[in-house]
Amino acid sequence: MKTRCCIVGGGPAGMMLGYLLGRAGIDVVVLEKHADFFRDFRGDTIHPSTLELVYELGVLDDFLKLPHQKTPTIDARFGDFQATVADFTHLNTQCKFIAMMPQWDFLNFIAEFGKRYRTFNLHMETEATGVIEEKGKVVGVKAKTPKGDVEIRADLVVAADGRHSTVRDVTGFEVEELGAPMDVLWFRLSRKADDPQTTTFFFEAGHVVILLDRGEYWQVAYIIPKGGMDAMKAEGMEAFFRDLTHIAPFVADRTAELKSWDDIKLLSVQVDRLHKWHKPGLLLIGDAAHAMSPIGGVGVNMAVQDAVAAANILTEPLRKGDLTEEDLAAVQARREFPVRVTQKMQVMIQNHVISPLLKQDETLKPPLPVRVAAAFPPLRRLPAQIIGVGVRPEHIEMAEDPAALAAPKKSGTRKAAKKPAKKAASKAA
Ligand SMILES: Cc1cc2nc3c(=O)[nH]c(=O)nc-3n(C[C@H](O)[C@H](O)[C@H](O)COP(=O)(O)OP(=O)(O)OC[C@H]3O[C@@H](n4cnc5c(N)ncnc54)[C@H](O)[C@@H]3O)c2cc1C
Repeated sequence: MKTRCCIVGGGPAGMMLGYLLGRAGIDVVVLEKHADFFRDFRGDTIHPSTLELVYELGVLDDFLKLPHQKTPTIDARFGDFQATVADFTHLNTQCKFIAMMPQWDFLNFIAEFGKRYRTFNLHMETEATGVIEEKGKVVGVKAKTPKGDVEIRADLVVAADGRHSTVRDVTGFEVEELGAPMDVLWFRLSRKADDPQTTTFFFEAGHVVILLDRGEYWQVAYIIPKGGMDAMKAEGMEAFFRDLTHIAPFVADRTAELKSWDDIKLLSVQVDRLHKWHKPGLLLIGDAAHAMSPIGGVGVNMAVQDAVAAANILTEPLRKGDLTEEDLAAVQARREFPVRVTQKMQVMIQNHVISPLLKQDETLKPPLPVRVAAAFPPLRRLPAQIIGVGVRPEHIEMAEDPAALAAPKKSGTRKAAKKPAKKAASKAA
């Protein structure tokens, strides 16, 4: 097989980049090792910055038809004290909320829209096992499929294969570990009418628990000290339920929904980044280039931002066939600053807020910033801006190539695409 760009990994980064390149008329192949996108407890938070990109692509109305829950505010509770600490309703974006949506719905949506372009080729059940290198340059990917091994030659290989990236391992990139003092247990509990009405962070002596509103159920993130899962298992589920109901008493009537530790998924938190995101013929993006802490739920959104920046910078060199390593360096230069700033804030919160909280054994008082935000509502907009929009958000700059369309356009779905397309056209002019 031969293509302009071969992307390894059909997660948020790989699928978005594949879609954008295919839409711009660049022949692209995306390899995903699984047969479907069904993964429980992955990043399900679609932030206003990502929704803005979906709007710029002209498919926001279709997107919002998918089942989702809107989170316009986030509350924090310290003992009996509860206050709203982030308010997204004043953001200067189309959507003034976080959309909670299963990641498989998000990825299926991109795959569906991607299929409209004959230049977008998604190969499921195709696992990259190595790269092809010639004269110090990556020129393709080796992969295995149920039908046998394949080789895909490409002008550019993009590794978007997540935090345990195979491509990163076989090509020998240096990873800088920033460390994380915590792990997260994910599980779900049913939600009842008289439960709290919004996504809430619970801070109690020795515990931090987040209940994400998923409509009929709560998606619960239970934060534990790094490597603490074995000790919890040794103490038994009853001890765990005691702690959980001490923090959120209203779930006491439904802990039996968790039948064994198998119902609880461990996310081993890892925060890292590469010094260099590229080498000749190869670029790494998303978690493969920088695993984010779960603080702020930004992982999916950072991965999508990387994809947009890469598409903005690489579309023209790929089209002309004159891509150089400087183009790949330009992608890193564009994205490294937002990644560094976000990770710095996450590590600061991990080390100075979460870690001391997990060690504390006295009832907590709400810290000053929380009390101030409770008293002055406009201050709740700042965390909303940092979480929801982030540092230096990307915008769609490349226009759709009508010649790449495989089938006639669906009517009524592409209205908002006019604006960025015009912008890109005037830029090109
Ligand atoms: C349990 C858990 C909970 C999380 N919760 C949140 C959250 O609430 N909010 C948030 O924003 N982020 C969350 N994250 C992080 C978020 O999921 C990631 O940051 C985000 O998905 C990164 O996107 P990505 O495309 O870079 O990588 P990934 O999503 O990891 O995608 C990589 C893809 O590559 C495929 N792949 C891997 N190796 C190969 C190979 N050799 N060949 C072919 N395909 C391959 C994988 O199957 C996968 O589909 C969570 C992560 C986990 C594990």
